Amino acid sequence: MNALHDLQLVRPSSIDDAVRALGEDGARPLAGGTDLLPNLRRGLGEPRTLVDLSAIAGIAAIEAGADGGLRLGAGVTLATLATDARVRGGWPALAHAAGLVAGPTHRATATLGGNLCQDTRCIFYNQSDWWRAGNGYCLKYRGDKCHVVVKSDRCYATYHGDVAPALIVLGAKAEIAGPGGRRTIPLAELFVEDGARRLTLEAGEWLTAVVVPPPGRWRAAYEKARVRDAVDFPLAGVAVAMARDGDRIAGLRVVITGTNSAPLVVPTGALVGAVWDAAAAQALEKAVRATSNVLATTVATVRYRRRVLQALTRKLAGALWSGSDRAATPTR
Ligand SMILES: Cc1cc2nc3c(=O)[nH]c(=O)nc-3n(C[C@H](O)[C@H](O)[C@H](O)COP(=O)(O)OP(=O)(O)OC[C@H]3O[C@@H](n4cnc5c(N)ncnc54)[C@H](O)[C@@H]3O)c2cc1C
Ligand code: SF4
Repeated sequence: MNALHDLQLVRPSSIDDAVRALGEDGARPLAGGTDLLPNLRRGLGEPRTLVDLSAIAGIAAIEAGADGGLRLGAGVTLATLATDARVRGGWPALAHAAGLVAGPTHRATATLGGNLCQDTRCIFYNQSDWWRAGNGYCLKYRGDKCHVVVKSDRCYATYHGDVAPALIVLGAKAEIAGPGGRRTIPLAELFVEDGARRLTLEAGEWLTAVVVPPPGRWRAAYEKARVRDAVDFPLAGVAVAMARDGDRIAGLRVVITGTNSAPLVVPTGALVGAVWDAAAAQALEKAVRATSNVLATTVATVRYRRRVLQALTRKLAGALWSGSDRAATPTR
């Protein structure tokens, strides 16, 4: 890795000061730095200013809402998210997903906001500058062609975040601050399925917090497949939330990661009202297969990632149907 290029570091203490700092040309948010700094040291971007969000008042707070939900500051670390008694008690799938990110030293510094807003990844992109130069770069950064989908005019780099799918199936919302004021959107709308653009944030906007509603009748689980259980990104991951009413599925939400340029919601409406049986499992696997677009952006084969994604979905939905929130155990 190279030394960091010359840049300015600013450390605002309020949300509005951060908005002002991020409104300057070439400014970028810095949270735990576990995604951003290795990328910059590989020459993937050259921001003039890093806006360190860690000194903003309340940024790392977890607050209980009057409705029984939670408000999670963007600066909450993943280690806290994985171990906080309120999160573990009410939203075990979220704590589980946070605890599966990278390794313990990453989680001690990595934040919720940084995890959600992390860059997309590709074997032709997450390489040193000299490696990428030898390949003529690519259209995600500095080049004009895609090596994964040749002749494509968009980038298919993959979103590998673990926490977003768990939050989306739980019905979470994102709080955003920017030059136009504050706004709140469903978390799924933070993402756009384009590996280069990635997020729907406008210039100067940043994610300040995530609001999770009370779980109510929903039970959820998250699981991922990875090369090394101790540290790796998901080759494929899935979060499932189910509400059961007697012998029927009263609600079903499925969100996949590690397969597309964004975490994607799988359409499951046809299964609401059905019994969870072999036919339902097959229909769900088919819907997952149709939503995912696994391409050769990482080390494992496309076929393996497709199959493991479907198998994990079936496993989690089956376990939730039988009443287990903690369906998931780490899977290779
Ligand atoms: C070896 C290794 C393994 C990893 N494994 C995993 C894994 O298994 N699963 C996984 O999900 N990730 C993994 N990661 C990626 C990364 O460590 C995590 O996603 C981490 O949570 C990023 O958080 P951070 O606070 O360090 O973000 P940073 O690196 O500080 O920021 C990441 C990106 O988000 C932007 N950003 C940060 N905060 C905000 C905000 N509040 N609003 C808007 N934009 C913001 C930054 O500008 C940057 O583009 C891994 C990284 C490494 C190096
Ligand atoms: S998908 Fe194509 S454009 Fe995107 S990073 Fe990979 S090679 Fe580059």
